[in-house]
Amino acid sequence: EGTPVNAPASTVEELTTQRDRAQQDHAALVARGLKLDLTRGKPSPRQLDLADDLVDLQGPLTSAAGTDLRNYGGLQGLPELRAIFSDELQVPVEQLLAAGNSSLELMHDALVFAQLGTLPGGQRRWVDEPEIAFLCPVPGYDRHFALCERFGIKMIQVPMTPDGPDMDVVERLVAEDPKVKGIWCVPKYSNPDGTVYSDETVRRLAAMPTAAPDFRIFWDNAYAVHHLTDEAAEIADLLALCAEHGNADRAFVFGSTSKITFAGGGVAFFGSSPANIEWWQAATAKRSIGPDKINQLRHVRFLRDAEGLREHMRKHAALIRPKFDAVDKILTAELDGTGLASWTKPAGGYFISLQVPEGCARAVVAKAKEAGIALTPAGATHPYGDDPTDSVIRIAPTFPDQAELEEAITGLTTCVRLVGTEKLLA
Ligand code: PLP
Repeated sequence: EGTPVNAPASTVEELTTQRDRAQQDHAALVARGLKLDLTRGKPSPRQLDLADDLVDLQGPLTSAAGTDLRNYGGLQGLPELRAIFSDELQVPVEQLLAAGNSSLELMHDALVFAQLGTLPGGQRRWVDEPEIAFLCPVPGYDRHFALCERFGIKMIQVPMTPDGPDMDVVERLVAEDPKVKGIWCVPKYSNPDGTVYSDETVRRLAAMPTAAPDFRIFWDNAYAVHHLTDEAAEIADLLALCAEHGNADRAFVFGSTSKITFAGGGVAFFGSSPANIEWWQAATAKRSIGPDKINQLRHVRFLRDAEGLREHMRKHAALIRPKFDAVDKILTAELDGTGLASWTKPAGGYFISLQVPEGCARAVVAKAKEAGIALTPAGATHPYGDDPTDSVIRIAPTFPDQAELEEAITGLTTCVRLVGTEKLLA
């Protein structure tokens, strides 16, 4: 964590000097005509190079059990690939499905299937309810919120804490309101804060009484294996805890290899209780005769086993850790002690969350844009793109090369100094 956003007592004179310097720095920055992009959490070309062998698929196109993978079938996906991911996603192999190329697509489908078909434990389809709502821990992932918006699902914001969503708020809302049908969770190295849910948070999510009998936790474990340090964060086993507390059908687990092998060319996973898996397969069997098992086989041959997966992720960490370190170093050098910003120092995942004084985030993003530095729009971390505090900026350090990243972050700190000092003087 950086210093808290609290302006230290500076005289007007000092602030004016700082503002003037920031104005000059910003003008110089604009004059350089940069074109840098920190918007989306994408792997860099060098990270993608790590998986190039994926396309050299050698040997027979058959499964371990001897089935011809060139043909239709196998709705559950290749068992040997599911076995590689079973431990890391904390889903028993028989309850874990390997599907297409995108977990977001599976989350979309889960919502559509729940709208159009009654969930295990449910009394009616979600479309037949007068209104449904999802709890949205904020800051969160914009595409989750976009799905709710797309399907007319009301979004109720819940503040994040260093242990995950504020569980006192979550427990109260789910207990009192049957309209609340779900919650979005990115439990490990959350987007954008890098938060790892505590064991107690996971236990409370599994155990809490809910007014809706068909309440679901959308457990998007997108960064399950994406550690930046040698200490791999472990989270409690949600699926097992749900079963233990008599809520076996509560969790929908999602994951993918998008940031392991190729983004958009990987494999996505869905895991849940036996009843939910049966419900899911009844719906997906109408949608497809089976997934792309050739791509799944490529992943088996490339990753080999759970240790092969971990070894591959260490290569990613070696490439992106210096980027996360550089961001922290520059933010510390330029902003520490100014009272104008605080930021997260995640141990994994893809993002750093930068907090600026209230009412400043949009202006900082706009000033960066003037200087040719593209940032995720301020507010994207909140439902409807509206951060009521206008203070959160998501930094995605992975895609640019090291020099470009350092240039962009240095430029960003100029914009924070400019907007922050102008605000304090206003
Ligand atoms: N979930 C989270 C939390 C993400 O940050 C992302 C991508 O940034 C995704 C899901 C997208 O996953 P996929 O490529 O499997 O659709």
